[in-house]
Amino acid sequence: MTASRGWQFFMHPGPTNIPHRVLQAMARPAVDFMSPAFQALRDRCLERLKGVLKTQKGFAIAYAASGHGAWDASIANLFSPGDKVLVPRTGYFAENWAKTATQYGLEVVVADTPERRAVDPEAVARHLAADAKGAIKAVMFVQNETATGMRHPVAEMRAAMDRLGYPALFMVDTISSLGSYDFRMDEWGVDLVIGGSQKGLMLPPGMSFTAINARAWEAAQAARNPRRYWDWRGMVEEGRQVRFCGTAPIPYFYGLEASLDMIEEEGLENVFARHRRLADATRACVRHWGSEGGVEMWSLDAEAASDSLTSVLVPAGHDADLVRTISSDRYGVALGRGLATLQGRIFRIGHMGDLNEPMLLGALAGIELALADAGVPHARGGVEAAMDSLRAPRPVQFAEIQSRLDRDPGATGERLGKESREALYEALTAERSPER
Ligand code: PLP
Repeated sequence: MTASRGWQFFMHPGPTNIPHRVLQAMARPAVDFMSPAFQALRDRCLERLKGVLKTQKGFAIAYAASGHGAWDASIANLFSPGDKVLVPRTGYFAENWAKTATQYGLEVVVADTPERRAVDPEAVARHLAADAKGAIKAVMFVQNETATGMRHPVAEMRAAMDRLGYPALFMVDTISSLGSYDFRMDEWGVDLVIGGSQKGLMLPPGMSFTAINARAWEAAQAARNPRRYWDWRGMVEEGRQVRFCGTAPIPYFYGLEASLDMIEEEGLENVFARHRRLADATRACVRHWGSEGGVEMWSLDAEAASDSLTSVLVPAGHDADLVRTISSDRYGVALGRGLATLQGRIFRIGHMGDLNEPMLLGALAGIELALADAGVPHARGGVEAAMDSLRAPRPVQFAEIQSRLDRDPGATGERLGKESREALYEALTAERSPER
């Protein structure tokens, strides 16, 4: 039987729910993509995207392509056949980006990461330190491994490279983290960023981008890899994208403008705080389900569990895909599958993009029903645990303080009569604590 009434709860880790505002913005007749009006829209969107990437020095180059296209663009533009790159192995997506590099004739060195743990930047740095000739041209790092639901430490990886003074380019895939939790291109010294439309940006799949800085642009001038569709040199003039190779993905820019409006209206730091709140509630639910044995969080490291999706391991002898099928067919809750070696072992709950508390709670309730129907051992009452997590006074995040200060430094300080961040932290906590 298929759940045939009411909303489908779409909890995939990408693509994600597309807000009506974005859908409506995209539903319009074609326009001339060489017209001044479209070019102004493109320029505005690419400029505003820099705010989400937290870059002043870099700029984005968009493609009519899924994220795999941006992967191709990164390798085709930066390297020559035989170049060596270092890839921390985090899961299916890191492995497939590495495969792209191999297929362009690069030599890939893999830094292994213990299963269910975050990348240890020092362990990756040991590969660099062992490379006395400085032959490794780049570190290719996935911030949020969508296959496992784990976040990996970008700032710390950059710091480890800096400590060695190693000159490699730093490339970061943010496809399932951008717009969901913090990423800082300039501050973290990222030379190339991979981004996609269909996750935190809440657009349909089909547009991706690379954001690059001056070092990456320079590397592209010397690179000898063959390239045509992805060639930045044909698309960029004076540090900004001025054309596409072929027809521009017109509707995506109307959608992107609507999505950036939504992100800016909510406030990027508030978007991150919402993702954290929903992720915390999901984790509280999963931990409750596993409190008497049975299902488990895939991430063994609480800090490394992603704010954009949660992977749930089912015990040996049980089938995660059966849970997914029941949850989708009987209860209308669509979940992500385990990929490659994780198929059947985990299911993935996406909680990124256009999502709120009741959507999440409804989905968790459907999953709990499916766990019972599939006979997977779990403790009942996970949704109550999620609600308790949502009820708890919200911890004040540093990001939130920063965003309040950025918005209104004078007034916030004056009204609270406080100057320092620490004092503001205390004031915000006190403001929030009574009967929330
Ligand atoms: N990188 C990451 C981290 C992803 O999650 C994905 C897709 O989910 C990709 C790259 C590939 O993107 P696409 O499927 O849009 O080609």
